Amino acid sequence: MSQEQKCGPCGGSGLTQKTEHRVELDKDGNQIHVPHTYLGPCNACHGSGQG
Ligand SMILES: [Zn+2]
Repeated sequence: MSQEQKCGPCGGSGLTQKTEHRVELDKDGNQIHVPHTYLGPCNACHGSGQG
């Protein structure tokens, strides 16, 4: 994970990384909390390319 993601609309680096924990089942059927990271809207342009 060395590549920095750029905001498409404005080309800036203001994207926010968020973590969401989901309950999933492992191979034994036990509930486990799995973190999923994803990129949220750019905090400079909010995905609109303006600002
Ligand atoms: Zn942006």
